[in-house]
Amino acid sequence: MKGKFVTHEQVFTWMERERGLVVITERAQKKYHHLLPSHLITVKTAKELFFSPWEAVYRYTLQGKTWVIEEKVEHSSFPSFLVLLPCEAKAILEVTDVNFMTEDTPDLGYARRRRGVTLIIVGCERIEQTCFCSLVGCSPFWRHRESVFLFPWKGHFYLEDGEEKLSLSPFEDPQKAQAVETFFAETICTLPLPLPANFPEKLYAHFDDPLWQKMAWHCVNCGACTYLCPTCYCFDLSVDGKLRGLTLHTWDSCMFPKFTLHASSHNPRPTGKERVRQRVMHKFSYFPLRNKYYGCVGCGVCREICPVNWDIKEVVEGMVRQVER
Ligand code: SF4
Ligand code: SF4
Repeated sequence: MKGKFVTHEQVFTWMERERGLVVITERAQKKYHHLLPSHLITVKTAKELFFSPWEAVYRYTLQGKTWVIEEKVEHSSFPSFLVLLPCEAKAILEVTDVNFMTEDTPDLGYARRRRGVTLIIVGCERIEQTCFCSLVGCSPFWRHRESVFLFPWKGHFYLEDGEEKLSLSPFEDPQKAQAVETFFAETICTLPLPLPANFPEKLYAHFDDPLWQKMAWHCVNCGACTYLCPTCYCFDLSVDGKLRGLTLHTWDSCMFPKFTLHASSHNPRPTGKERVRQRVMHKFSYFPLRNKYYGCVGCGVCREICPVNWDIKEVVEGMVRQVER
């Protein structure tokens, strides 16, 4: 789809006008603070806007012999637009939406919040050293037909907004639009190739590979990677109160030793090896085998923040070599 153009001022002014309705992720804010208003409300990760780190799902009270259930009421001033990077948008559209907005059993809170928010994807001018998005089917210019796409280009923003979600009065410049598309295509050609198409199946067959032990030993299972990962969505449900109380959901992490601890005290993932294997297998085998997309968007956040430099890209590349032997 050929895009149009808008000035930085148009975008800046629009965001100023819609202030309160526009939220931006910390990573997008860091990258584009020089072009976008600096005082937009930020969220650490896109997922936490729709899938809160902790919240009351409903209240319950026993009145006589009847349980009265009161659903959580949404905050009335929920944002309408979320500005984010391509990998963050892919994580929402192809992982958390897929998990929480199923047709038969959607997560009602997630679905309600998500349906009211338009994603404004701002393509990456600069590719970070830790990023490996091209390996997993993403790119610095990844877009989606239901979202708005912006890319800074020679003093303007290149804009794709097929559904006209932003009222910005863009102008056309077919030659310039062609130059942008050529730049996207040429840059993508320089990026590492995607993982082999049959990698999820092959990795599945390597569940018992002794290499997992070697891959896992220096991870300290702190869980920081899973909390900041845009695609991790494990959570617990707990109740607080007997005859009257709250049902709460809180984020959890498959890296924690107690994550799979049974009431019998048996733990099917007793050591770091099983926990690391689970994290990698879920993202690179189980999830894509069920849903066709990888459960990792190659954002590199976990590589940046890991206190012991455990590197998922190195592990995946090591497993690619191993399965192809
Ligand atoms: S990979 Fe790093 S950040 Fe993740 S649990 Fe292990 S030590 Fe913590
Ligand atoms: S690179 Fe790390 S943080 Fe980013 S999606 Fe993949 S596993 Fe999650």
